[in-house]
Amino acid sequence: MLSDKILDVCAYHRRDFDLVLVRSRPHDTQAVLASLQNACQACPASSLGSLDSLPTELLCIILRDLDVLSYFQFRHVNRRACALATTAHEYQSVARHGLEGLRGLLRAGLAPLFTMGDLYSPLIREECVLCGSFGGFLFLPTVTRCCIACIQTSPDLRVMCTSTFSRLAKISTRRLRRVLGSELRTVPGSYSMLDKRTRRPKHLIAVQTATAKLEQLGILDQDRSRALLSWDEQEGRQFMASTAFPWYDPHNGQVDDGISCKGCQVRFENRLEVGVADDRDRVFSRSSYLSHFQSCTEAQELWTQSEGGTKAVWEPEFTRRGGFFNELDSDGLPR
Ligand SMILES: [Zn+2]
Ligand SMILES: [Zn+2]
Repeated sequence: MLSDKILDVCAYHRRDFDLVLVRSRPHDTQAVLASLQNACQACPASSLGSLDSLPTELLCIILRDLDVLSYFQFRHVNRRACALATTAHEYQSVARHGLEGLRGLLRAGLAPLFTMGDLYSPLIREECVLCGSFGGFLFLPTVTRCCIACIQTSPDLRVMCTSTFSRLAKISTRRLRRVLGSELRTVPGSYSMLDKRTRRPKHLIAVQTATAKLEQLGILDQDRSRALLSWDEQEGRQFMASTAFPWYDPHNGQVDDGISCKGCQVRFENRLEVGVADDRDRVFSRSSYLSHFQSCTEAQELWTQSEGGTKAVWEPEFTRRGGFFNELDSDGLPR
């Protein structure tokens, strides 16, 4: 198809955005992929006990109400439980297309707070909840579909080290944990686009949600609330609470992890104008990119040079590497 050829020549995926967030190492994921996505083929040797007296439809409704951690624990009970939990549509979709979101919740200790349906809803949503642009990412503390620009700048997605939050709110960390009932456990990662070392606290709190809850309970007065909302948290912290999360369209079964424009990078390198850097950082769905292509002179120029996608064309080093990488290791991944 012509549109696929245009995408091949003029668009690319920003891997640096995925890798600066919470992510699994490919070889770790590969080791568990088959067991996460498939049930054991052998016939079940055990039953579900008294649960077996319920029709399958009712069992599926009960499963839908389980939080993600309990869902996993149920799945490990025996082969019959594994078959039932694995074939559920929402689980299948999340385990196949939203794996980083699923693993991210489990690793961050947030899995007891959400159901599989809570994770499926953002998976089938295309746009960032906050700004309406294509959103290729998931903010883990509230399982919100979001875009990279909102992760970097939106007050709604701000996170803060639990001890800093406790100090500014003048509430002990023990009380804070008891009242909020959750905090995000951070996991190792790079969390910087510029190869800067970012200190990683053990736990983070989603500032907006936590502040609203404490205000509602009458625990936080306006002054302390203002101090929390205006606190300038260290750069990179916001990357520790989000992960790559492609959009899955259940109507056609397609998965879209977002693409950026090579033409906009060419323009950025040719003319350092205000606003041009923002253009090259935009992420589109495959269909919305084609609308952008109509108005991007540099992308059209690349397409013309490729003679309908039949000839290889020069492209910037930045797009060839998939974004900001100073050094690549032997697997072609940033160090
Ligand atoms: Zn956004
Ligand atoms: Zn462009």
